[in-house]
Amino acid sequence: MVDLKIVEEDEKSLKVEIRDLHLSIANAIRRLAISEVPTMAVEEILIIENTSAMPNEVLAHRISLIPFISDIDRYVQPEECTCGSKLGCDRCVVRYVLRAEAKDEPITVYSRDLIPEDPNTIVKPVSPNIPIIKLAPKQRIEMELYVRVGTGKKHAKWQASIATLYDKDGEPGKKILFIESIGFLPPRRILLEAVKIFKKKIEELKEKIMGELGG
Ligand SMILES: [Zn+2]
Repeated sequence: MVDLKIVEEDEKSLKVEIRDLHLSIANAIRRLAISEVPTMAVEEILIIENTSAMPNEVLAHRISLIPFISDIDRYVQPEECTCGSKLGCDRCVVRYVLRAEAKDEPITVYSRDLIPEDPNTIVKPVSPNIPIIKLAPKQRIEMELYVRVGTGKKHAKWQASIATLYDKDGEPGKKILFIESIGFLPPRRILLEAVKIFKKKIEELKEKIMGELGG
């Protein structure tokens, strides 16, 4: 019988011992933990002003790589949202603004300078101290950011975790699944979501097979 035990856990990573689970299933769950568990990152940026030395595309790319603490109970992927709006609604987008200006001294702009439209949102950069850009005196940036749900399958910036699967030394049939969160979600939640996605895929397959066979 399949047996599963958490052998190590902290806020960043989770180590699970698995016994008697087919390798293909354990590996499928591992891959889902990497590429299909939804997380939140900046998907779109509207640059209003940028007089820095950094080109718009480079600046936008840097910001898009900031992981956001993700509220996947409240927010859904835009393509799954019922609003059908390109701008999004309060279930599929979190809006942020970034405004910064260097006066007489150069400054560094950090992730903590991103200001949410809704001050009560729990969706925010995983760390306040991620450097974004340096501004020389008189340089200024202003932009709007649209944080949305996505998956690693869509773009690597949404990748939820790094996950590995390996044999437990000297114990045949036992494997270790190690999940290290990028920071969007607690590692325990990542495993749970991966298993939920696996179950959903099996159910979809079952429905297709039964439909095909007239069951
Ligand atoms: Zn929506």
